[in-house]
Amino acid sequence: MSGADRVEARWRQALAWRPGRELVDDARRTARRALGHGTWRGFPAGSFALAPLPGDGEAEQLLAAYEEFDRLNAEHFGGVCPPVKIVINPRLRSTGGRMEARQRVLELNGYRLAEYPETRIEVVFHEMIHLWLYTLGLPAGHTEAFKAKMAERGHTSIRYGVPGDPKGPRHAYPGSDRRVVYRCPHCEHTYHRRRHYGQPMLCGRCLRQGHGEHRIILVGALDGQDPR
Ligand SMILES: [Zn+2]
Ligand SMILES: [Zn+2]
Repeated sequence: MSGADRVEARWRQALAWRPGRELVDDARRTARRALGHGTWRGFPAGSFALAPLPGDGEAEQLLAAYEEFDRLNAEHFGGVCPPVKIVINPRLRSTGGRMEARQRVLELNGYRLAEYPETRIEVVFHEMIHLWLYTLGLPAGHTEAFKAKMAERGHTSIRYGVPGDPKGPRHAYPGSDRRVVYRCPHCEHTYHRRRHYGQPMLCGRCLRQGHGEHRIILVGALDGQDPR
């Protein structure tokens, strides 16, 4: 079985997964209780495609990421995190990874993987925290609960830089010109921009999907920090 076939097998397994009754009930109950948090939006079926398959080099990275995912899930999350599609997104430049929790898609930054493969596990860990919080029905942003979980692996902030990683806290990669990050408090989608918006902006994703008007909030700016 080739690396790509083994990755595809993991994708298929993730696609076939459906949340159990108990998980759904618990998440809904928690979401109702959590202040300022609305209805839990569940895990839609068929939320990602099985194509295109990764090349051999990518498959190796992805299989290693899957091993880390499994290990972290057992060691830090009590096995709560549902199976995900892990993929390398070549458009990711300014973050090490991205979790679409509802769709169960974990995207990794191929530039960072190539340059700092030893930090992959910390990227996976960070993104899994988003998924774990969402699965429990809790606000899935960089909350206090998020930071407390990060501390389990010795991180003193939400960043996943490790000691000696020169790009640790900066999320800046070769070719990246995206410095400003906004996040939608409703769908958790992040927007990476070259500069600040001059006016309040609504989440285009929520608007398109009929989830109402939600103002995106500034969550980070890297102005003047990029060593490139
Ligand atoms: Zn994050
Ligand atoms: Zn949104």
